[in-house]
Amino acid sequence: MNIVKGECCYEDKELEIPVIVHKLQALSERMKDSSSKLPHVKSDLSKFLSGYNGEKSLEFHLTFLQNDLYHILHDVRLHDGERFFQIDVLIISPFFAVIAEVKNLSGHITFDGKFSQLIQTKNGQERAFPDPLLQVQRQITQFRAWLKKSSLPQVPLHGMIVMSNPYSVLTSTDYEADNLIVKPPSLLSSIDTIKKQYDKPFISQKELKKLTKQILIQHELDERPILDRYGLERTDIINGVFCPECKSFPMRRIYKYWTCPRCSCRSTSAHLSALKDYYLLFGKTITSKQLREFLMIDSYQLATRLLQSTPT
Ligand SMILES: [Zn+2]
Repeated sequence: MNIVKGECCYEDKELEIPVIVHKLQALSERMKDSSSKLPHVKSDLSKFLSGYNGEKSLEFHLTFLQNDLYHILHDVRLHDGERFFQIDVLIISPFFAVIAEVKNLSGHITFDGKFSQLIQTKNGQERAFPDPLLQVQRQITQFRAWLKKSSLPQVPLHGMIVMSNPYSVLTSTDYEADNLIVKPPSLLSSIDTIKKQYDKPFISQKELKKLTKQILIQHELDERPILDRYGLERTDIINGVFCPECKSFPMRRIYKYWTCPRCSCRSTSAHLSALKDYYLLFGKTITSKQLREFLMIDSYQLATRLLQSTPT
């Protein structure tokens, strides 16, 4: 049985909440508080959410780019022939393309060129991150390889590091790529500066459309099971329908209603979010036995009826 009927299609690349965020939210809610892996899952969830919020804060500034000249693609994941690579924001025009790596870090940020690292100082604590310049350079190499593999024309590629947190304080030491680091309000002028380097386009509007279309066709979501990522077993996941009001579980199915033993809330549709959790954690297929176990119901007929009435 399929929880999701039909295949999803992704025809545009506007910014949306990444699937990994939905998966980690479902996972963190369905892990036991005592699990030693819960802090790791919660920390990853906040990291991915912060990344999404960073990109979200760029959206406003990107709307000022001429939409007949630039195509903007968020969160693109492509295969270069050897491995996957992910680009936060790809801005393409007939003249050039910009690969932007977005970092939503707060506090005092130092770009350290000598040791190729980024140091965040926050609340008196220092933390090191990999140099985003190396990430962008790798993405440029991989995007170039992808263009070649896809028999598409090469366009000049520029990297950009966007520090999206408006309150972060930026400094650098021995960093050769200072000019590539921007905050969202100066994104537009940085793109204009790049544009001035080019008198004529490298590809036609038709080729640009073809290129964008190919990116959307070849974009692939990371479908690796989320439980594998943390070495979790099915038995580590809490079964049951959660109460939409007080979040306690499991709700009991009494006649036509899901009923919460704690707050007495009644619902006819509380199983839908449980089914969504199942889909995010285990995939789109489910057997009748798995469904009954997960919803904690005994009746085969009820299980079939609930699944058949699930909206696509
Ligand atoms: Zn309740």
